[in-house]
Amino acid sequence: MSAESTTTTDRPTYALALTEVRRVERVSPSFVRITFGGADLDEFGTPGDVFDARIKIIFPPSPFAVPPIDRETDDWWGSYLAVPEEERGSMRTYSVRELTVADPTGASGTTGTELVVDFVLHLEPGLTGPASTWASTAQVGQPVFIVGPRRGVPASQHGGAEFAPGSARSVLLAGDETAAPAIARILEDAPRDLRGTAFIEVPTASDILSIDAPSGVEVTWLPRAAGELHGSALIPAVLAHLGDAHTHVEVRDIEGEALLWETPDYSGLGEEIAATDAPADRYFWIAGESGVVTTLRRHLVKDLGIDRAQVAFMGYWRRGVAMRG
Ligand SMILES: Cc1cc2nc3c(=O)[nH]c(=O)nc-3n(C[C@H](O)[C@H](O)[C@H](O)COP(=O)(O)OP(=O)(O)OC[C@H]3O[C@@H](n4cnc5c(N)ncnc54)[C@H](O)[C@@H]3O)c2cc1C
Repeated sequence: MSAESTTTTDRPTYALALTEVRRVERVSPSFVRITFGGADLDEFGTPGDVFDARIKIIFPPSPFAVPPIDRETDDWWGSYLAVPEEERGSMRTYSVRELTVADPTGASGTTGTELVVDFVLHLEPGLTGPASTWASTAQVGQPVFIVGPRRGVPASQHGGAEFAPGSARSVLLAGDETAAPAIARILEDAPRDLRGTAFIEVPTASDILSIDAPSGVEVTWLPRAAGELHGSALIPAVLAHLGDAHTHVEVRDIEGEALLWETPDYSGLGEEIAATDAPADRYFWIAGESGVVTTLRRHLVKDLGIDRAQVAFMGYWRRGVAMRG
């Protein structure tokens, strides 16, 4: 979603939308579901073709003030950086849980696009951040800037979505609660004949939410035992499913601040990606706490010999590290 990327008509492939909070629903102990609306959203995202597209939300420094970003500019990033730091607020990355258009014909004069985001609440003192704090106190009417793919731009062009199973006949999706919204959106936007398995680890059994998944995809929710670290339910479940004998993995903190980000055609570690001609019959999509994803990567690639080019490994957040947009 770089400021430089443009469509063939020279409009940027992303849209900057000034939105307002329309609804706030505490859907479970750990998730708050927030619906955003506003005329700018009519250029935002492509309903039915969202998958795991990432969006950037700019949380203002005070609830009813937004930073003075120029909405007409094609360089929102430059305009954002020009705002003094204390007025800028904080930017974080989220997924689209729903994108709905009330009146696609526009006959009523508005298309009424609404964008739904499921925020994980992590509010323990010392372990919370501006996004989670904002979500926990959000009120109807609050203004928020959101940046995301421009309507009609295919995922391959806007660069903000990773789910790309190609011709794979089945998929394995795995993630923690921060990846639950993306997994849900992927499964609801996927062809109805998609087959495979999804594993979603959540803080408690009450955080299990409904997903309209294709009938050929088995969705397994994995509530974490109280007091256990992220990954303690997900790692053994995924490894057991894949037949790895090492399911008793010690879940521990892995040093380093960098988020793991490796997809079939990109390596954040700078690794060379060998071109493979043979189409993979299975595609893996794994996201969540970066140390957990790193542990799964090690087992999948090193122990199970799964080809790197079949997997997207994505650190969505890092224990003990505040994200910077
Ligand atoms: C592509 C992508 C899509 C994402 N989609 C979603 C989504 O749909 N919903 C969602 O809730 N998150 C999502 N995330 C994760 C979210 O961006 C991070 O959790 C982010 O750190 C939250 O910002 P914050 O301001 O609350 O905390 P930060 O200021 O970034 O961090 C402050 C502290 O909180 C800790 N922390 C951050 N997140 C969590 C957590 N979930 N549980 C426990 N501790 C945490 C950090 O380790 C740090 O110690 C996504 C991330 C990416 C990269």
